[in-house]
Amino acid sequence: MSKRAVENVEDCSTKQAAKRNKHWSLGLVESMKDPEVIYKETKSIVVIKDKYPKAMIHYLILPHEEISSIYKLNKTHLNLLNEFGSMFNLIKEEHDSELRAGFHAVPSMQRLHMHVISTDMNSPSLKTKVHWNSFTTSFFISYEELIKKLTEDGYIQKISNDTHKILMSLPLKCNQCSFEPKNMPQLKQHLLSHIK
Ligand code: AMP
Ligand code: ZN
Repeated sequence: MSKRAVENVEDCSTKQAAKRNKHWSLGLVESMKDPEVIYKETKSIVVIKDKYPKAMIHYLILPHEEISSIYKLNKTHLNLLNEFGSMFNLIKEEHDSELRAGFHAVPSMQRLHMHVISTDMNSPSLKTKVHWNSFTTSFFISYEELIKKLTEDGYIQKISNDTHKILMSLPLKCNQCSFEPKNMPQLKQHLLSHIK
């Protein structure tokens, strides 16, 4: 199991999942059914609050259709993804903060999910360099990039284990200025200076 997956095991209510005899990676599928976690829902998609938000605003958009990940997508899914985009626009209208939308190149949790996350990245659940790099390097595939790749190639190409390792070990860099913090505590302290 990858380091990030191990973190998600810790992240993702392991005990709760174990109680229900469900694998931890099915946590999102469970959350999609929980009215307390659902933020919005349409016939084809659900928006839930991320249980371990990595910023002040952090939602996940998921399809009702059983699509396990970005690697199962093809051109027939472009209509569905268009709905993800419309939902992202709606969420943006409802919030003052700057929001980004995208997918992790190697997701840990099952069921396709698009992160909608504010750029502040100010959250107690954001703890590790792996968390940081998964949202601030090319490991985070933006919504536009995913649509472009799918339209041009008809599928999303997997990244290699080596690329995955390289991206996760890139030096820390602020996502809002050129500051290069030495460690996570310094980065987290620095992020506060960007909050208006
Ligand atoms: P990914 O690395 O793209 O698979 O991201 C999975 C996301 O799901 C992370 O941001 C986690 O904080 C979040 N998460 C984990 N378990 C749950 C859960 N049970 N309900 C809602 N969000 C969760
Ligand atoms: Zn900065």
